[in-house]
Amino acid sequence: MDLTPILEGLNDRQREAVTAPPGNLLVLAGAGSGKTRVLVHRIAWLVAAEDVSPHSVLAVTFTNKAAAEMRGRAEALVAASTMWVGTFHGIAHRLLRMHWQEAGLPQNFQIIDADDQVRLVKRVLRSLELDEKQWPARQAIGFINAAKEAGRRAGEVPSGDYFQETHKRIYAAYEALCQQGGVVDFAELLLRCHELWLEKPALLEHYQRRFRHILVDEFQDTNVIQYASLRVLAGTQSHIMAVGDDDQSIYGWRGAKMENIQRFPEHFANTQVIRLEQNYRSTGTILDAANGLIEKNAERLGKSLWTAAGAGDPLLLYEGYNEVEEARFVAERAQGFIDGGGSADEIAVLYRSNAQSRALEEAFLRADIAYRIYGGLRFFERAEIKNALAYMRLLNQPHADVAFERVVNLPPRGIGGKSVDAVRRLARERRISLWQAVKEGVHEGRFDGRMAKALMAFVGLIEAMAADAAQLSLREVAQLSIEDSGLLGYHGKEPGERGLARKENLEELVAACRRFETDRTFPLDPRGAADEEDDGASALDDFLDQAALESGEYQAEGGPAVQMMTLHSAKGLEFPLVFITGMEDGLFPSRLSMGTPERIEEERRLAYVGITRAMRQLYLTRAQVRWMHGAESRNPPSRFLDEIPAATMESVRMGFAPARRAKGNGAATEEATLNIGARVRHGKFGEGVVLRSEGTGARARVEVNFAGRVGVKWLMFGYANLEVLD
Ligand code: ATP
Ligand code: MG
Repeated sequence: MDLTPILEGLNDRQREAVTAPPGNLLVLAGAGSGKTRVLVHRIAWLVAAEDVSPHSVLAVTFTNKAAAEMRGRAEALVAASTMWVGTFHGIAHRLLRMHWQEAGLPQNFQIIDADDQVRLVKRVLRSLELDEKQWPARQAIGFINAAKEAGRRAGEVPSGDYFQETHKRIYAAYEALCQQGGVVDFAELLLRCHELWLEKPALLEHYQRRFRHILVDEFQDTNVIQYASLRVLAGTQSHIMAVGDDDQSIYGWRGAKMENIQRFPEHFANTQVIRLEQNYRSTGTILDAANGLIEKNAERLGKSLWTAAGAGDPLLLYEGYNEVEEARFVAERAQGFIDGGGSADEIAVLYRSNAQSRALEEAFLRADIAYRIYGGLRFFERAEIKNALAYMRLLNQPHADVAFERVVNLPPRGIGGKSVDAVRRLARERRISLWQAVKEGVHEGRFDGRMAKALMAFVGLIEAMAADAAQLSLREVAQLSIEDSGLLGYHGKEPGERGLARKENLEELVAACRRFETDRTFPLDPRGAADEEDDGASALDDFLDQAALESGEYQAEGGPAVQMMTLHSAKGLEFPLVFITGMEDGLFPSRLSMGTPERIEEERRLAYVGITRAMRQLYLTRAQVRWMHGAESRNPPSRFLDEIPAATMESVRMGFAPARRAKGNGAATEEATLNIGARVRHGKFGEGVVLRSEGTGARARVEVNFAGRVGVKWLMFGYANLEVLD
């Protein structure tokens, strides 16, 4: 076979890594130096030159998007469809589906997301009679997840003070509840899978024999349990290739251990370490900014990164009056890029917190620029979608308590909190599902007449729907779930835009199911491989799991779109034009990290990740005033702005640019367009700042935030009586 395509486009160091003789390999290198490229080419090399069967290759990456891309790139070089590519979670999930029995799970176990987890923990708190104010559910979940990520069951958590002991009790009760309900949270996927291997040596041996070559991207973000799993799976016979960058470790808060990179050569025999230093992604200026910033961190392995590319343009710094204006600026510049011949696909808008996306979305909607939101919230986290999914889940598995609780009275059907409590009590007493409790309770006449009737009506509805669903395709099941449940009517009746949006979202769910059906090659999971092992799961099973595992990847499909995502989900990606928004202390670095030096360092690494996503142009934006956590806050500029070498940055002045003169053909109307952020004085209302301006000439409207008691006002009919200061 011709190996040229595999070796083309690699520098000497990269080629050394790709062609190294089979063995353990650690590629430690900065952003954009070709780590991911090397990993993909290594897979191709193993198959083409070392005669390795793709069947014995396991490749692990951090996001589903990255996994899909990796598969695509590898397959462009060699036929590798039988290799496994996925995220740690996706792979653990696949294994548990295939070996549910050995793992001690019901065959149709369900994955629950963070929201469901809160619900369950709240139930635990109630059953233990713990006051939620004193023992917040989120804190308990933090404790449970951290324990699982460290590989500990409730019984293995060391004893401690009252705080520790109480959380141990919550964890134990939560464990029991999950087991009883056949549900599995994200952290559980990994822990279960790890335990599966430890407890079933024959099974472990089977996979050890199979996966002779394990390749892990973004290795700096593996946590204790992932690292332990890798070690167990690799055993003594398999070869691991890990690639990573300690400066991009951004999941410490979720238990990732940077030390895993440092300890790698100790744990894996005869590790060859290769460093890459040339960056192929960014301009010199962007790289200078990133290098200058990350130097401020004390905890580093230390790497140097250079580029042969020219200096390029300076970073542009923009300061808006508020987040609305910030968003408008971003949309405007994005439009400018597109007008100049760029594609929307080449633009990324990054933010620290998901909540920032709303203002950005609005600005992009107004500007009519297509955008897509990755990861985090969005589609599958919307209330109406979760309601529909809960129905789909119940059709599949009526004993799913979380789903039952969510929709038993939604749309309202006269089953109040008291009724649900009574059902819950019975379920707890008998250690049965809520569904079962309804049936037994009604049968034994334990509930009063009206309540029993309402409950049985619900049970009847689900049973009837389930009977229909058995004959239907996934898309039809979704349709049935939103119609027969009454959800479509219920949400559609909500007033105004909101009702409309909810209805559209529900319809989008049906569309997503259709797409899912036609393309069950989950890019996200090793299942994409034409693999010989079939776990026999239905499309509905798969879809529900997928919905819990992944959010948002089905919306706004087709056509180029601006990519919006958190800084965390941008890891590994690259874009010609990048905006990092919300550069404010309290937002980025986040409020929670302030005051803890290690956490500030992690935020700084996150900023480094963000900056190094940019290929040609990077904007950093902030707002003076921002609506956050239900209040207006004035955040100081991010400390990172001071730490980035000033020589790499230029401010784009906000609002004070000379007002453009609108030109008619010949007959010039001498109307100025007011810039957002411009300071103005009004004869009657006094001084203020322009928030919005629309239209021209006599139709112009402008929204101004006036000082003092006057507040925000729309002024119509041109700018009569308005004087522009500055
Ligand atoms: P990150 O740390 O952000 O994950 P990385 O080290 O994985 O980055 P890649 O994404 O593999 O870097 O590569 C960065 C960019 O540089 C990609 O566009 C890649 O195609 C390109 N690239 C890598 N090596 C070379 C090379 N030898 N010649 C030309 N382009 C290259
Ligand atoms: Mg990479």
